[in-house]
Amino acid sequence: MHCKKDEQLQRIINQVKSLTTKGKLADYIPALANENKEHLCASIYYLDKTCVSAGDVEHSFTLQSISKVLSLALVLMDHGEEYVFEHVGMEPTGDPFNSIVKLETNNPSKPLNPMINAGALAVTNMIKGSDKDEQFTRLLNFIKELADSDSITYDTIVAQSEYNTAWLNRSLCYFMKEHDIIKGSVDHLIEVYTKQCSIKMHSIELAKTASVFANNGLHPSTNKRVIPEKIAQLCKTFMVTCGMYNASGEFAIKVGVPAKSGVSGGILAVVPELCGIGIFGPALDDKGNSIAGIGLLERLSANYKLSIF
Ligand code: GLU
Repeated sequence: MHCKKDEQLQRIINQVKSLTTKGKLADYIPALANENKEHLCASIYYLDKTCVSAGDVEHSFTLQSISKVLSLALVLMDHGEEYVFEHVGMEPTGDPFNSIVKLETNNPSKPLNPMINAGALAVTNMIKGSDKDEQFTRLLNFIKELADSDSITYDTIVAQSEYNTAWLNRSLCYFMKEHDIIKGSVDHLIEVYTKQCSIKMHSIELAKTASVFANNGLHPSTNKRVIPEKIAQLCKTFMVTCGMYNASGEFAIKVGVPAKSGVSGGILAVVPELCGIGIFGPALDDKGNSIAGIGLLERLSANYKLSIF
């Protein structure tokens, strides 16, 4: 799709780009370690359907944890709030995204929120479908609708690489299976989850996906109601309280918009009633967020007064 190159956005990118040298690529999923650390690009999709961008915006990357907010929206549509929140909580955590500790100390044992891995695995387990393939296809089709792109697919190499090394995620699943939070085959769940995390898009598609949340679930480009308003609101609230791992508090103060990041270096950010933002910068800070992506959002927020608070 057409997205105009924007000089002002490019200038801000140039100002924060040196931050990439201080970051590190995620290497615990071997296939992610192959990215170019200096990469940084951004697209902004406004609700009036105009789009501005800067950098190599058509480079596609895997969603990783960004997918967690999209699977949550689907599962809430599939089952309703009451059922979903019997299996996963609503509270932020100061622990890392893949921590197992709170699963044991919480009573009853359920994951604290859908943005940490345990919670996201429980959410993926709830996607409706007669088998793992139908579950994944339903999620992929939903994401195609959000991104307004039929060509979205998943990266088989990243998915396989993560499937082969997902020991901690498997442990979280077995723990939750013992406590009846997840049902069925753990291997099937890990397969759907790793494919989900490996769904690929570029920053323009990510900005469009974010714009659906900015427009309260009504797709600004197709005019279709893709997500009920209440569910879009709920997803944005989770993004504010837990979307940026255990840096969500600092991000709310410094940037102040709902956002979700992934270890691939993507960030989906939502400026309510205005625009969706898609960023890709694979060099990560020590909390797992795109280091230059955060710098970029801080500047955008300060320059254009984007904070919702
Ligand atoms: N697929 C990754 C995992 O579950 C996602 C992590 C992330 O982006 O935070 O470990």
